[in-house]
Amino acid sequence: KPRVYRFGNKSADGDSKMKNLLGGKGANLAEMSTIGIPVPPGFTITTDVCTEYNILGKDATVDLIKEEVEKSILNIETQMGSVFGDKDNPLLISVRSGARVSMPGMMDTVLNLGLNDEVVIGLAKRTNNDQFAWDSYRRFIQMYGGVVLGMKPESKDDIDPFEEIMEHLKEKRGIHLDTEFSIQDLQDLVYDFKDAVKKRTGHDFPTNPWEQLWGAVMAVFDSWNGNRAIYYRNMHGYPADWGTAVNVQAMVYGNMGDNSGTGVCFTRDAGTGENVFNGEYLINAQGEDVVAGVRTPQQITKLGSQRWAELAKIDEVGRAENYPSLEELMPKIFNELNGYQNILEKHYRDMQDMEFTIQDGKLWILQTRNGKRTGAAMVKIAMDLLKEGMINEKEALLKIEPNKLDELLHPIFDPKALKRANVIAQGLPASPGAATGKIVFFAEEANKYKNSILVRIETSPEDLEGMNIAKGILTARGGMTSHAAVVARGMGKCCISGAGALKINYKTKTLTVDDHEYHDGDWISLNGSTGNIIEGKVATVEPELSGEFAEVMELADKYGVMKVRTNADTPKDAKVARNFGAQGIGLTRTEHMFFEVDRIKAMREMILADTVKGRKQALEELLPMQRADFEGIFEAMEGLSVTIRLLDPPLHEFVPHQLATQKELADDMHISLQAVKNKVSELEEFNPMLGHRGCRLGNTYPEITEMQTRAILEAALNLKERGVICKPEIMVPLVGTVKEFEMQEQIIRSTTNAVFEERKDSIEYLVGTMIEVPRAALMADLIAEKADFFSFGTNDLTQMTFGYSRDDAGKFLPIYIEKGILKVDPFEVIDQEGVGQLIEIATQRGRSVKPNLKIGICGEHGGEPSSVEYCYSVGMNYVSCSPFRVPIARLVSAQAAI
Ligand code: ADP
Ligand code: MG
Ligand code: MG
Repeated sequence: KPRVYRFGNKSADGDSKMKNLLGGKGANLAEMSTIGIPVPPGFTITTDVCTEYNILGKDATVDLIKEEVEKSILNIETQMGSVFGDKDNPLLISVRSGARVSMPGMMDTVLNLGLNDEVVIGLAKRTNNDQFAWDSYRRFIQMYGGVVLGMKPESKDDIDPFEEIMEHLKEKRGIHLDTEFSIQDLQDLVYDFKDAVKKRTGHDFPTNPWEQLWGAVMAVFDSWNGNRAIYYRNMHGYPADWGTAVNVQAMVYGNMGDNSGTGVCFTRDAGTGENVFNGEYLINAQGEDVVAGVRTPQQITKLGSQRWAELAKIDEVGRAENYPSLEELMPKIFNELNGYQNILEKHYRDMQDMEFTIQDGKLWILQTRNGKRTGAAMVKIAMDLLKEGMINEKEALLKIEPNKLDELLHPIFDPKALKRANVIAQGLPASPGAATGKIVFFAEEANKYKNSILVRIETSPEDLEGMNIAKGILTARGGMTSHAAVVARGMGKCCISGAGALKINYKTKTLTVDDHEYHDGDWISLNGSTGNIIEGKVATVEPELSGEFAEVMELADKYGVMKVRTNADTPKDAKVARNFGAQGIGLTRTEHMFFEVDRIKAMREMILADTVKGRKQALEELLPMQRADFEGIFEAMEGLSVTIRLLDPPLHEFVPHQLATQKELADDMHISLQAVKNKVSELEEFNPMLGHRGCRLGNTYPEITEMQTRAILEAALNLKERGVICKPEIMVPLVGTVKEFEMQEQIIRSTTNAVFEERKDSIEYLVGTMIEVPRAALMADLIAEKADFFSFGTNDLTQMTFGYSRDDAGKFLPIYIEKGILKVDPFEVIDQEGVGQLIEIATQRGRSVKPNLKIGICGEHGGEPSSVEYCYSVGMNYVSCSPFRVPIARLVSAQAAI
């Protein structure tokens, strides 16, 4: 099996399907080459070699691939008509990382490799451009020194030795930009850089191009295990054994003068999804200059420039007027680029994020990938591609990442509050959303406040963790493709970039706008959709399911087989869920209703009563309250099934534990404080979660079940009278034996019959059970003979199957995950292997006696994508999840069925 794959000159050994082996970048470079896009020739060393390198080390790895690499370099030389390491006609190369998924800026790349003191002179002569040759050389030493020789600062407090030298020289020469260095300056820089390398590493900078090449290749492999990459991998759950590929490619030069440049572009707007070609570029620049914010980039399109000009009114950089778009400046190049972006989007049938370089009037494409985008853009792009006929309905649904929908379900600024808002400045709307929080100036301090807004001149890859913690990101510099903007969009985090009116002082931790000063800890708000920066806190409102989002959901319901219900305890939650498309309620926790101030008293009286009579009296007080609750919920869910669970938690949770409240209760009930205290300690349990709770309550205090059943059925009949259709389903919790269920069922049915008799009316209802005790799963066939439905309570089922107390697992689960004892938290993601067996057994045994037995799930897992998919695979009729997860579950239900 080859370890090296070539590309270039309209052909390639690999293609875009080989991402696992060639990495995303390599696979797409191969594909582009094959379809005739001009990419500089090169080759990809496979991810397998990265794995081999991690075992064998450098020397053995070089031996493994030396021959193939040498042949492939020769191939580049032939195509480019220049020679690697040659003094008169040198070929320079880039050595680029590239994992199977894109990890922007997380790994390393070295440009202009192959230069030394002799080659640089040859390059200058050959191109007749000393400025360019020496600029390339100083860039090379800087990058190679940082990436391969370990001179990149570890933390932001350390100084980058190369930057320091450059800053010094700029100061001395009274210049601001890298492009202003003279040839002499650049030569001085090279000299000083090499000196710094010698001082720091104790070795001379390597002059042999081959030595340089092997050093860079291994450094790229190493960058897969760098801190930044590891953090990013963990954040996304990418396994360590994927490794990275290495792409070696002929250099093309954007730094040859005013007829050269480099840029980044998107086939559609990555923030909003709007179908407009957009991007940024810099004249006479190379590589990361655009992203790194070295200079303020210019817009690719005229439209982009116009939009920017509007924003620039308040931006002192004044970029729009002074810097024309590529479309205006180099119309021929722009047309060519526009052609390629069309071809590539049609070819990949998705929004593309591309890198290009213009070398002396010739356009080269250096990278394309499916662009990272916000949740809003993801939804719009999928629906637009569908409408444009580029993809079909199923493909559109599969393009939507379930968890990314979450972004669309977060609160947005209240339009009324926005009208009153004090907008202090405006920047670029780099990533939409609403964020309110306290100002922090350093990524390391993002966790200082519960809600923080990270305010930076610009961000860098080291800031990743802090950016992830912050609620929003604000930068004074950088464009729409700056590091902050790209990363924030990937995270779905609100971000405003390039707000030139902000003056940020890290030392004094102040942000100054006009004459106003803001400090660390002051509240600000960001509107990522408009770029408005607002003083103070701004109120938010719940989002709505509308526009393309609603269209996606409609489409999901067309393909989804498994229904999605919601867990809701109040009419308000039920309404929210219904607006998100819930098809019923899978779990109403009745106990939550008892915690309200006016009810807890009656509840406590019921618990404290020593006699059945006393309990019934207190329950009588609770009945009308419960009935009213149920009426509200039934009404909100008109026409849909509503599953109500009978009282579940241990009674101990309801009694007062503070002396003052105990006294109050004693007075109210005309009993002694001691009596209250005695009762409280009597109710105490060693293991409440395995104690007197669930149907064990209903079976010891049947009058509770009676009251709750009565409340449910009376509510239903009341609504029936008003013409509202309701479908109650009464659910018995924590059943482990058939008898436990039978006893409860009897009470429920006889109470129901009594109610029907009294009212001279009746209504259809179901009586079912939760399956959450492992024994119930095993006895499922016997239970199913009696029960109308099953609902898996996977929180308790997981707790009891693992024997992990849900409330104590926080102490050891994180360590278990870190040590690899568990892959994920089983309370978040269903343990298909173990708990799943019980679910499957219960489903099979239940349906063996009742083939149409209705089965659902009401644990937290009901809104977690991989668990929802699993529920579909075992044949459940529905999942039930919290209101805000409903759209996500609907989507996954459809994706699972496709
Ligand atoms: P990343 O994965 O972090 O984007 P890349 O490997 O894409 O890193 O390279 C970093 C920068 O260097 C990009 O802007 C890219 O366009 C540029 N670059 C890479 N290879 C070449 C090359 N052969 N010629 C010119 N520029 C290059
Ligand atoms: Mg790149
Ligand atoms: Mg339970």
